[in-house]
Amino acid sequence: MKRVIMKFGGTSVGSGEHIRHVADLINNHLGKGYQMVVVVSALKGVTDALIEASEEARSGNRDHVHKLLQKTTEKHVAATENAIKNKSIRKEVEQTLETTLDELEKVFTGIIYLGELTPKSKDYVLSFGERMSTLIVWGTLRDLGLSVQYFTGKDAGIVTDSNFGEARPMMKVTAHQIKQKIEPLLEKRIIPVVTGYIGATQDGEITTLGRGGSDYTATIIAAALEADEVWVWTDVDGLMTSDPKIVPSAKVIPELSFQEAIEMAIFGAKAMHPRALEPAMEKEIPVRIRNTFNLQNPGTLIVMEQKIKPKDVVKGITLIKNLALVNVSGAGMVGTPGTAAKIFDILGKNNINVLMISQSASEANISFILQREVLERAVSTLEIALLASGLIHEVTAEDDVCVVAVVGAGMKGTPGVAARMFGAVARRGVNMRMIAQGSSELNISFVVKETDGEKAVLAIHEEFKL
Ligand code: ADP
Ligand code: ASP
Ligand code: MG
Repeated sequence: MKRVIMKFGGTSVGSGEHIRHVADLINNHLGKGYQMVVVVSALKGVTDALIEASEEARSGNRDHVHKLLQKTTEKHVAATENAIKNKSIRKEVEQTLETTLDELEKVFTGIIYLGELTPKSKDYVLSFGERMSTLIVWGTLRDLGLSVQYFTGKDAGIVTDSNFGEARPMMKVTAHQIKQKIEPLLEKRIIPVVTGYIGATQDGEITTLGRGGSDYTATIIAAALEADEVWVWTDVDGLMTSDPKIVPSAKVIPELSFQEAIEMAIFGAKAMHPRALEPAMEKEIPVRIRNTFNLQNPGTLIVMEQKIKPKDVVKGITLIKNLALVNVSGAGMVGTPGTAAKIFDILGKNNINVLMISQSASEANISFILQREVLERAVSTLEIALLASGLIHEVTAEDDVCVVAVVGAGMKGTPGVAARMFGAVARRGVNMRMIAQGSSELNISFVVKETDGEKAVLAIHEEFKL
């Protein structure tokens, strides 16, 4: 019997009709003899709305919070109505939704009064999205006559560290607990329906696994239960050669290795949470990305082996926006060992994450890339710490850049790939500001002005005939 963890993203559960469709899909697979755990994301757009509402609450904008809350309520009520036909099941779901939303309103009132939004309270707010969506999916499955049991990530046994907003699972305890709580149900043909994205610390405080974290929930459960496969259901045909919203001719990548998929995810292919692949890779559990709305399509299969066909050196291209470039220069840096270490140590201590680094051969300057939102803080921190020492002369910044990352295991040891890539970009008149190749040689990334980003992606897409 095949044991599959099925995760449905927000794009798969955007409305009551879609939830009904998802429930039918699950029912069909049950009929085919699959053992399943279902993991559910918040309804499309709800996590964003909750983030907005919590920030408005911190700023004391009571009316705005109220409006957002009302919209969220309407969305879930409408979805319930369209998804669940049986009156008493629907009523039960509606009542639980109501108490849940009351609780959420109280949390917002608290934030408004305190004027403070801690990472901990933010995670608590965000957990409501998945709690509500999963409840509706649970009710819809019951409506179809299936035996199901509802779990929050916490109840399912996902224990994390207390890094709110980006928590990591403590795999040993987590695996042990999930096995104890979930496995017996599978043997009894009961489908556990689990909220994606959320876990809890050892003290029981709710945490979230980072944006897109429902993928992570699915692979954590898969690893714990030694599942045969993880299926990530979404609204596109699989992991594609580029974001289909930028490159309309982007194609599905039928198969790639975990390493390639991780590189693509780290560099912004939103189709997968970057760390989500780790638990699956560790247990060698294949991950499939499939389209909820195009069941004929086999999707993308992510597996251990790196299959390199001579022709497809480049597999995918991704684009990360909202970045900034910082350039630190000064003759004092030449031949002074440890300058780079000092710079990155200062940034690290201030929790500023660096995405890409390059140093010129003359050693007289170091450039690096970071998120645009931390730019000001990074520049002032460096100025305060380093200018007075005379080690550096100037810190300059550009706040309108993006990174294009090109991924493919076949690039390793294939000469001339970089030259072809840079040639294609240059012919479009796009200027590269910085270039880096990861030591894995699985990717080459470069920096261009944000307005040139899409042009560069398209140029490479054409050059390598993806
Ligand atoms: P879900 O709700 O299913 O988790 P996400 O919005 O998190 O959906 O991810 C799916 C979206 O990722 C797609 O709709 C697509 O626009 C976007 N995307 C970005 N890059 C890629 C890529 N390389 N391949 C596939 N999808 C991508
Ligand atoms: N709802 C969460 C988010 O939007 C988690 C997820 O969708 O995977 O990031
Ligand atoms: Mg997602």
